[in-house]
Amino acid sequence: MLDQKKLIVKKFGGTSVGTLERIENVATRVVRDREKLGQLPVIVVSAMSGETNRLIRLANDLDPGYRGPAYDMLLASGEQVAVALLAIALEKRGVKAAPLLAYQVGIQTDAIFSKARIRSINADKIIQLVEQGVVPVVAGFQGITDDAQITTLGRGGSDTTAVALAAALGGSECEIYTDVPAVFSADPRLVTKARELNRITFEEMMEMASVGSKVLHFRSVEIAAKYNIKIHSRSSFEEREGTWVMSEENMLENPVVSSVTHDPATVVIKLNPVPAGAEFLADLFGRLAEKNIVVDIITQSGSDRPDRQRLHFSIPEEDLVQTEKVLHTVLDSETEVTVMRDMAKISVIGVGMKNHPGVAARFFKVFKEHDVDVHLVTTSDIKISAVVAKNQLKEVAEALHTEFDLDV
Ligand code: ASP
Ligand code: MG
Repeated sequence: MLDQKKLIVKKFGGTSVGTLERIENVATRVVRDREKLGQLPVIVVSAMSGETNRLIRLANDLDPGYRGPAYDMLLASGEQVAVALLAIALEKRGVKAAPLLAYQVGIQTDAIFSKARIRSINADKIIQLVEQGVVPVVAGFQGITDDAQITTLGRGGSDTTAVALAAALGGSECEIYTDVPAVFSADPRLVTKARELNRITFEEMMEMASVGSKVLHFRSVEIAAKYNIKIHSRSSFEEREGTWVMSEENMLENPVVSSVTHDPATVVIKLNPVPAGAEFLADLFGRLAEKNIVVDIITQSGSDRPDRQRLHFSIPEEDLVQTEKVLHTVLDSETEVTVMRDMAKISVIGVGMKNHPGVAARFFKVFKEHDVDVHLVTTSDIKISAVVAKNQLKEVAEALHTEFDLDV
């Protein structure tokens, strides 16, 4: 029988397998942990760094408008290369390795190309291999539909493959190796005094992923929370531990705010006035949704006329052209449209907020002290976000980081 506790999914990201030398280092580390710690590793890899971007460019150069099965097949090829190379490097070290693509391990997804969601994974084959002393090396990011088409899970989706695999194998932990040593309390490129976090809750990590932090794929954290799988996000270039993402029950204490996160590519659209009532809103946001545009913060308020209202909302910068097209079709000449580019969203996140009043007061005090205009605001029970001008982002981020006692 397999010792379930020794079974561990280890995912290596693009930079960790970015060159042959790095692939050799990964193989050495995997073999060493297997021998020294008695681990039964199951490996997941991303494409070599830069490769997915290169493939996207090729497709875009041919036809920037194309999306569908051929696009996903193209993008998925990057992982195939990395899997094969790592398997060769492992075998070179005398360890049996099995290179595996999604169809070989039954990573079944829906048929939403480029954003597919995993429905199920057939763990039997992997278990069999491990029982035979083989190290499975599984391609991240890809899946297979019921009618055998290759799909991909969205950018950064290898994390999701790894955590879903850990869940399917009945594991309780998943290692994600990357090029940063830990999850930080803020982006160190923006906030000079950012510090490494030892632990963070699933909930906080999900909020961080949804407001612009690119550390982990959103869906991977969602699955980890659902199946209670601890994620250990750590460096592939260093030995030390990184950040544990885990359930709140495992935390000894929670700071009020654990991170200051930002999204530097936000556009605010102000419409004044538009027809009053929900019908107009349903029509506008329905059309935006049809174009897969993710509308973020929305605020609505009355105007001086009962048949009219004001509407402000934010979108990712990349969706601006499409959004303007939609606005063109639904608005009449009465509405004044203001498009505010060069905006950024800044958020403070922390599960401790649930039990501590006064967070909003401290948040806005910082804006007042630094004379920063707030264009949109939104909150959840563990987050407050505001949209500000991009050129004030750094100042306000550092000040919030200090205000909430996060500085190193
Ligand atoms: N190679 C894919 C990407 O660049 C998936 C991943 O790295 O997780 O998005
Ligand atoms: Mg990634």
